[in-house]
Amino acid sequence: MTDERDERPLLAGVCGDPIAQSKSPRLFRHWFETYGLAGHYVPLKVAAPDFPDAIRGLQKAGFRGVNCTIPHKISALEIADEVSDSARAIGAANTLTFRRDGSFFADNTDAFGFIENLRIGAAGWDPPSAPAVMLGAGGAARAGIFALLEAGVPAVRVLNRTREKAQKLRDHFGERVEAISWNERNDALAGSGVIVNSTSLGMLGNPPLELVLADASKDAVVTDMVYNPLETPLLAAAKARGMIAVDGLGMLLHQARPGFRTWFEIDPDVTAGLRAACLEGVR
Ligand code: NAP
Repeated sequence: MTDERDERPLLAGVCGDPIAQSKSPRLFRHWFETYGLAGHYVPLKVAAPDFPDAIRGLQKAGFRGVNCTIPHKISALEIADEVSDSARAIGAANTLTFRRDGSFFADNTDAFGFIENLRIGAAGWDPPSAPAVMLGAGGAARAGIFALLEAGVPAVRVLNRTREKAQKLRDHFGERVEAISWNERNDALAGSGVIVNSTSLGMLGNPPLELVLADASKDAVVTDMVYNPLETPLLAAAKARGMIAVDGLGMLLHQARPGFRTWFEIDPDVTAGLRAACLEGVR
């Protein structure tokens, strides 16, 4: 079936406030060029109260969909007519598809991006073989915990500075999630198969995550959702100990794939060229 929007250039974008820092326009531009598509992916600064009107306007203007970032990840869920299982479980959406029938479909692709990056970066990782450790209990942690549970880890130990938030995740995701005090984080690494930093510690301008890896198995995989710098102090420490270290840039790149696939009917590749295109400004 063709409709009016098939006659126009391919249109999509990312809504957020602020938005200038988003790497998504660069990422989509690279894919449009790679696949020879006439498309535009626009950074859209949208204030929180304007979100519903902006979404309806973009739909009328022929957009195929938008990515949503802070502060719109919950509003994106609320405006949707249909919500994916992952978005429902995580409680937030980052990808809105504008369907031909006028309805909105909300998905959360952070979990997909996280696990895809981890599986590719740590090919020998066997999720059911050992518990995971999640440092942090914010939005990114929710996506990571969902993905780890889906992948089959027997348990996720969640440690957060504000313990109540870790406890809330335990209540939300159930008994395979354990809330542990932040000051027990070094001991909590023993016997784990994967260690994830989902706090903002280690990010450029923030203090490093203080974590002693001595009790962690050398076979455990360490991954950081922070990608600026690409090699965080945590990843450097893991490498120095001979552990597999997976940086956070791949999560960002892979999470964009489902939107591109749904909107433009091509499953795009995450390549060295794409990484290079997105690394500008990253240390
Ligand atoms: P968020 O919801 O604001 O959560 C921030 C987390 O960091 C909370 O757990 C917070 O603990 C913790 N934290 C902040 N300062 C801390 C400190 N001084 N000591 C200990 N813990 C501290 O943010 P988010 O959306 O989850 O994002 C978290 C990080 O993941 C950011 O760096 C973000 O850039 C990154 N991220 C990367 C990707 C990717 O594609 N690679 C995707 C999403 C997010 P409290 O609860 O105690 O405040």
